[in-house]
Amino acid sequence: MAEPTQTAGTATSPTGYAWCSWHKNFSDGTRLVQLSDQGSAFGARGLFACEPCREVHHLVPVADQPMPGAEADAT
Ligand SMILES: [Zn+2]
Repeated sequence: MAEPTQTAGTATSPTGYAWCSWHKNFSDGTRLVQLSDQGSAFGARGLFACEPCREVHHLVPVADQPMPGAEADAT
C-alpha cells in the first residue's frame, strides 16, 4: 500500500471551505497561511488562501512553515 505523503486526515492540517483573502471569495481547499498578529478585530484568527492563490503568491501554509526562531539556517 503506497500511502501519499500528504493526507488530509487530522486536525493538524486544517483544510476546508473558507474565505480566501487573496481572491476575496469563499473557496474549498483553503489553508491558513498567515496568523493574525493583531487583535482579532474581525474575529479572524488569520488569513486563509486557496490552493491556486497559494501557488500564484507562493504562500506557505502556517502548518508547513518552519518553527519560529529557526531562521538561522545556512545561507
Ligand atoms: Zn484564492
